[in-house]
Amino acid sequence: MSDSRALYEEVILDHNKNPRNFRPLSPCDRQVEAFNPLCGDHFTVFLRLDGDRISEISFDGAGCAISKSSASVMTTLLKGKTIPEARAIFTRFHSMITSPPDTPIDETALGKLRVFTGVREFPIRIKCATLAWHAMSAAIDGRNDAITTE
Ligand code: ZN
Repeated sequence: MSDSRALYEEVILDHNKNPRNFRPLSPCDRQVEAFNPLCGDHFTVFLRLDGDRISEISFDGAGCAISKSSASVMTTLLKGKTIPEARAIFTRFHSMITSPPDTPIDETALGKLRVFTGVREFPIRIKCATLAWHAMSAAIDGRNDAITTE
């Protein structure tokens, strides 16, 4: 295991143990529930919008370490971002995580999300890592319901 791999794992475990913004948001403008039946991950993502900007974002629910830490990191990255910025970050994350494991990554562009690069080696975990992001994406598209990865 490389040093960076160990460090990345530590970040994931930390966000799993101490998830950031882990609470329902009330009142909120959008709320989307997301299920990943393959793993049992089940989260709700809450958004408060100020025009085009995500002024608050939070989540609650339960799931594996990858799904929970990814949701937690997502909330820390997207709070205060505009909707187009949030979409761009998700696109960057999604294309990294669905790329073959040996594809070089742009660490600077990915920022904190680089801790999830190891997930590429476990295709079944990709749905875990992107679950809350799909909920966020549905929420900024104006949906207020439930989504599932299946
Ligand atoms: Zn999972």
